[in-house]
Amino acid sequence: MDELFGVDDFANGEVALRLFRKLVSIPRPSGEEQEVALYLKELMEAHGCTVEMDSANNLRIDRPASPGYENRPLVILQGHTDMVLVLAPGVDRSVIRNPGIQLLEKDGWLQSDGKTSIGADDGVGVAMALSILMDKDFVSGPLRVILTTEEETGMNGAIAMDSQWLAGAKCLLNLDDCLEGELIISSAGGRKMDFRFPMENVSPSAGEVPCLLRLEGMLGGHSGAEIHKNRGNALQAMGVFLSRHPEFHVASLNGGRFDNVIPSSAVAEGAIQPEDIPVLEGAWKAYRQEVSTQCNLPDTAKFECEALEKPLAGVWKEESAREFLAKLSNSKNGVQSFSQEYGVTETSLNIAIIQTTEDALKLTISLRSAFRAALDDLEADLRKHYAIPGAEIVARGGYSAWPPSKDKSLLNLAMELWKKMQPELWVHSQVIHAGLEVGVFAEKMPGLQQLSMGPNMFDEHNLTERVEIASVHRMVQYLRALIGKIQDNA
Ligand SMILES: [Zn+2]
Repeated sequence: MDELFGVDDFANGEVALRLFRKLVSIPRPSGEEQEVALYLKELMEAHGCTVEMDSANNLRIDRPASPGYENRPLVILQGHTDMVLVLAPGVDRSVIRNPGIQLLEKDGWLQSDGKTSIGADDGVGVAMALSILMDKDFVSGPLRVILTTEEETGMNGAIAMDSQWLAGAKCLLNLDDCLEGELIISSAGGRKMDFRFPMENVSPSAGEVPCLLRLEGMLGGHSGAEIHKNRGNALQAMGVFLSRHPEFHVASLNGGRFDNVIPSSAVAEGAIQPEDIPVLEGAWKAYRQEVSTQCNLPDTAKFECEALEKPLAGVWKEESAREFLAKLSNSKNGVQSFSQEYGVTETSLNIAIIQTTEDALKLTISLRSAFRAALDDLEADLRKHYAIPGAEIVARGGYSAWPPSKDKSLLNLAMELWKKMQPELWVHSQVIHAGLEVGVFAEKMPGLQQLSMGPNMFDEHNLTERVEIASVHRMVQYLRALIGKIQDNA
């Protein structure tokens, strides 16, 4: 640990960067946070803090007030210890321990050697927060750092955390954002819905031959950040075409891999009379034109129609196929409401995954909204829409929305201070259409004032993940000043 304290300058962020380098050397993929949590517990206890570690490996780290500052309000800084580990092709997972994730410094940025992601998300946030508590020369009221686990795989640590960890705080500053000068004031809640429709198979009619329709190369993208970009949805596009062509007897429909990604491809297998194939193929090519007028379709997108070698075991029974395809093509999808005030999507859904099994069709839809009530309404709508006899419908994996607060005092204070300290850097408040742990805390402790911020960081969850060194220096200085303002203004 000694290498952290080679410099006495906590105030300019140098210690935060050293601590981040240390964190990079400790493996901490989601679900494997215990080692890093134990390390940080020992480190912070050695710096006079009281540390509690819960069964989810969350940490609550308390630093008492400096003498004379006991009456100041408690401020919480918060981040998550886990990271998304991305490995380059051919790189073994053991690299995170031996030789460990390597950090390179280039043109003022810390980045990886191309073999792994570096976990700047949220290692830098964790390091910034702890460096402030470690500085015995930093005079303040009571401070707490909360470090959660499994943020990247469902915010499980935050969800499991005792809500009493938030009790009595004046505010919580979440350090998990990735754009300097952005102050986040609201994030979306989300949930997933899984549908299972029983599908009866029948033999293809006499003379029918197997055939495949493939749609490939739509733009796809993140189902929160990019849902408003009119990129189309390959599964729904395929559904619309199939519902118009009853001469193609569908045997399977598949597409989409992740619930938070807009599906960019879809494949349908089916059976058709040989003389109908040229007509189907012509219609499929014409459909490409139609889709290109409805969404941003790249020139490289493919609409292919191929004969299939292998015979089909069966095709979907006519009525079930009709019913499902009609539902899919008329289903709500994409942006449902947009906030003019903040210029972001408020409520959206993504028809994410369709999978055909032997006797059923499985569909996953992900829902997002800044408002819980809107999520409930949307879920109810979808349950009604897809209420096919025999259908099983389950909602899961919910995380909470963080709606914008009516009380803007914390935001105003933070904005004002920013303009004073960094007049040359743009500062703005932002609402995001993605989930943050802040939403979980907002539900645990209604009324708690919260903001989310962070230094410049690009390509998180990627091999090219990187963080700007100067922006970490600025962010630590800003945070220290902001804590002072908040505790003074009590
Ligand atoms: Zn993060």
